Amino acid sequence: MTAYERHPPHPVGGTIEVIAGPMFSGKTEELLRRLRRATIAKQAVTLFKPARDNRHNTTDVVSHDARRQNAHAVADATALEAVVDQLIDADKMPDVIGIDEVQFFDYDVVDTCNRLADRGIRVIVAGLDLDYLGRPFGCMPLLLAHAEYVTKLDAICSITGRPAHFSHRVEGGSEDVQIGGAESYQALSREPYNDVVVRSHHRVAPSE
Ligand code: ADP
Ligand code: MG
Repeated sequence: MTAYERHPPHPVGGTIEVIAGPMFSGKTEELLRRLRRATIAKQAVTLFKPARDNRHNTTDVVSHDARRQNAHAVADATALEAVVDQLIDADKMPDVIGIDEVQFFDYDVVDTCNRLADRGIRVIVAGLDLDYLGRPFGCMPLLLAHAEYVTKLDAICSITGRPAHFSHRVEGGSEDVQIGGAESYQALSREPYNDVVVRSHHRVAPSE
């Protein structure tokens, strides 16, 4: 059996698109814009978000500029696929699936996205590429590698006004995952980010 026979071509051309960037860079806005256009094109659209992101209404995805769209809040990638299976069983196969805050899902979301794309679905995911310490965020590096299309957005640095690629946690604890908005995070460009974060977290020994 050839590789071509083992992996038949996509039935209707599923793809993975990743929208990545720091906080406030417009990832959610861009995700909702693409989904809105798909809806205008009369395609069946389904939006997901991780159930842990409870900043806003539990069933809406909301951007910082107050755009919102109803979404399924799911605990993990298995629950997400179960919702898709239910839709397919009900003869409501989605043409387009959006996932916001995808960095909060475990690594198995990568297989899920590939399986959905293999079934011909256009999968659009939005997520933070780096965590607040500037480390690649969970599943994001893998999603960026698997994606056919990648869009990297920047925010406006709240100190310099230049393009910002880093999310700085202004206040609060040191847990890897901490949900928050403008009160907890600010977008920074490289220089001010290095000043406030790298020095405080990496370069200064705890005893200094
Ligand atoms: P993300 O999902 O990437 O966190 P959103 O799509 O929710 O971002 O919000 C983007 C919107 O946030 C922008 O259109 C703008 O109105 C607002 N905003 C607030 N602070 C900033 C900032 N520092 N840089 C850019 N946009 C900002
Ligand atoms: Mg967002």
